[in-house]
Amino acid sequence: MSQTIIYNGNVYTEHGKIEQGYIHICDGKIKKVGQGDFVQQLDVNERQHVEMIDAKGHHILPGFIDIHIHGGYGEDAMDASFKGLQHLSQSLLSEGTTSFLATTMTQSTDNITKALSNIANYSQQQSTDDCAEIIGIHLEGPFISEHKVGAQHPQFVQRPSSEKIRNLQQTANGLIKIITFAPEVEGALDTLNDLKDEFIFSIGHTIATFDQTNEAVTNGAKHITHLYNAASPFLHREPGVFGAAWLSEQLNTELIVDGVHAHPAAVNIAYRLKGNKHFYLITDAMRAKGMPDGDYDLGGQNVIVKDNEARLADGTLAGSILTMNQGLHNLLNYTEAHLEELWRVTSLNQAIALNIDDSKGSIKENKDADLVIVNDQIDVITTIKNGKKHNYKPY
Ligand SMILES: [Zn+2]
Ligand SMILES: [Zn+2]
Repeated sequence: MSQTIIYNGNVYTEHGKIEQGYIHICDGKIKKVGQGDFVQQLDVNERQHVEMIDAKGHHILPGFIDIHIHGGYGEDAMDASFKGLQHLSQSLLSEGTTSFLATTMTQSTDNITKALSNIANYSQQQSTDDCAEIIGIHLEGPFISEHKVGAQHPQFVQRPSSEKIRNLQQTANGLIKIITFAPEVEGALDTLNDLKDEFIFSIGHTIATFDQTNEAVTNGAKHITHLYNAASPFLHREPGVFGAAWLSEQLNTELIVDGVHAHPAAVNIAYRLKGNKHFYLITDAMRAKGMPDGDYDLGGQNVIVKDNEARLADGTLAGSILTMNQGLHNLLNYTEAHLEELWRVTSLNQAIALNIDDSKGSIKENKDADLVIVNDQIDVITTIKNGKKHNYKPY
């Protein structure tokens, strides 16, 4: 039996912050969470068999769950490369991400199919303690609006149907969890009604009006994809997708909190209106994350990365190079909220949405020991994946 005790940290739980807290990990699971000097309770013999991690007063959070990420560290899920996914997954631990949804792009059905079967194949063989875990797929397109493609390829936009989605899901071996779609296009509402219990439908890359957005919610749509990007904006006589997103309690919203995709004040407005239970911090990162500035490919289009921004030649934003820990740091700066309420927008909300909160998403007995230790600047010091320690920064 492998045992680890992390002690002397601020432990963030569903019941609040535990100062001077400890976490006892057994065989990759959290066995006990408490306050005080747990080490003293062990006899000399026990201590020899337990790995001790002194958190030195830093913050201990649940491992981050990124539900919208295309790639990073030179890799992209659309490359359909086994080694590429492995490298991406391993690298993601450095930003505290312990689980993610590999996210595809609007591309030819052939390319999407290749990417999906590669993810399905990889996920069956993936390491659960040396790499962030692929817990599913976010299918971003091709069922979007050609009028709001953003950096998706307009040539490959398709109309949705249950049959098309079922075929893709079969290729993906059941891993597709979220589908970004435009609710106003032909066939969208029928498909939504048909499949709403099998997938999370996320409204994005859309010119839906306020009313059309709410109609989609009535029909079972649950999420907004990257709020403020590639959707109809707020106008005071036509509040659009943003207005519906702000007001509907049934809608949970993703946000790219890099300070480029949305103004800090716009992020703060969204946070005030959605609160910490209906907000998902995402990166929407592309392959240039963690890489030097330069030219990169995103779904068959050239992207220029410079000064923290990734853009197509015409200036369109093309994914981000954000890390989850930087996003959380930004969110702390952009809102008046403290870590005590903000931590859950990086983990627990996502776990609940994906229905995996029995094993992931918070620091609680019997859940997987997926944790991240961060300092006040939210730099990742150590990531614990399934009980295994990965150090990134000296204490
Ligand atoms: Zn997008
Ligand atoms: Zn995306």
